[in-house]
Amino acid sequence: MSVAIVKPRIRGFICTMAHPVGCVRLLERQIARAKHPLRDTGPRTVLVIGGSTGYGLATRVVAAFGHGADTVGVSFERAPRPGKPASPGWYNNRAFEAAARREGRLALTWEGDAFSSEAKQAVAATLRRAGRQVDLVVYSLAAPVRRHPGTGTLHRSVLKPIGAPFVSKSVDIWTGEVSPVEIAPASPEEIAETIAVMGGEDWELWIDHLSRADVLSDGFKTLAFSYVGGPLTWPIYRDGTIGRAKADLDRSASKLRAAFGSEAARVVALKAIVTQASAAIPVVPLYGAALMKVMAAYGVEEDSLDQARRLLDGIYRSQEPALDAEQRLRLDEYELSQPVQTEIDRIWPKLTSANVGDFSDIERFRTHFLNLFGFGVAGIDYDRPVDLMATDHARPASNAS
Ligand code: NAD
Repeated sequence: MSVAIVKPRIRGFICTMAHPVGCVRLLERQIARAKHPLRDTGPRTVLVIGGSTGYGLATRVVAAFGHGADTVGVSFERAPRPGKPASPGWYNNRAFEAAARREGRLALTWEGDAFSSEAKQAVAATLRRAGRQVDLVVYSLAAPVRRHPGTGTLHRSVLKPIGAPFVSKSVDIWTGEVSPVEIAPASPEEIAETIAVMGGEDWELWIDHLSRADVLSDGFKTLAFSYVGGPLTWPIYRDGTIGRAKADLDRSASKLRAAFGSEAARVVALKAIVTQASAAIPVVPLYGAALMKVMAAYGVEEDSLDQARRLLDGIYRSQEPALDAEQRLRLDEYELSQPVQTEIDRIWPKLTSANVGDFSDIERFRTHFLNLFGFGVAGIDYDRPVDLMATDHARPASNAS
């Protein structure tokens, strides 16, 4: 047991502390929302690679508590040490397992490096032992580095434009200071490195491994998440290094469809939300704060749970979301709708430190960011010491291996 008062400690776009009770409380809220209404159709067994935070966690929650699926999660976590909390995903995983088991659902979690062969072997062995075949594999990793399982090389991704410098503006979400940014274009090596980390090779390796281990059901589906975004973000996202990696996911999806069937694999374009991964992308926090305000004004705002619900409902209940020319499922139509993007284009040149609170929802963006780490949750007394080592609010994970 290690008891401490936990407060946010922020360095740039990273918070190095997490509040166990806050993480659990927010997860419980997601679970409660996912339950209504309960769906009687959907996948029976779901594997979520990158399932401890953000879009992966929301999809795992909807699969388990909205559709009654058994789930296996894979994520990379930092365990607690005396006086130092764990990563938010570590608390989320344990709270998720406890909640799923309370409802009689299987929930197993493997914590470690999803890019490794060990991860793939461990998950396949766990599924075989449990006598399970997976109906849906969700690939939701967002990682800065990848050690290649074949070569041992450590690849590092970068978030840079390609071909020309990107000149735009960014915000310090804590001070509200809006300042110009100029990001130099990536070298060909940096582009290749980013594709090696965030491209489709690892997704293909997962499916290949699971298929050889015979733990994929007939007619299984696999989804990988992507982002297209509005034109303001294109130089740094869609047309930048990360966009090249996402285009590589499209290549992998088409290869997987050729191997496993025309409906087996899809890339899904989702809307921008606040996550640890998206907060690290230059320009995106200011765009995201403006987007929050504009989408709320038009009454079309969605969070990760809304998107995950629409995704699984679309696939398993009624109509699949629209497919684009690259055969991706699109759930970003509200973000990219003409009125929303026109309004963003109108306010963007005017945004300054003096008016960022009027033209964007920087305050709510801050709260969402704090929420990622269990902070900023109403009703929690953050001056009270908490047990960091997992007790009633965070039980040990199953350590599936
Ligand atoms: P996130 O940071 O909230 O989640 C990333 C997940 O990956 C976590 O569970 C983390 O533990 C796991 N992970 C990272 N490295 C790992 C490793 N080596 N081994 C095992 N697990 C590892 O990110 P997110 O924003 O939810 O992103 C998930 C996906 O959704 C990404 O493909 C991202 O591009 C996509 N997406 C995000 C947004 C957005 O606005 N956040 C929008 C559209 C699409």
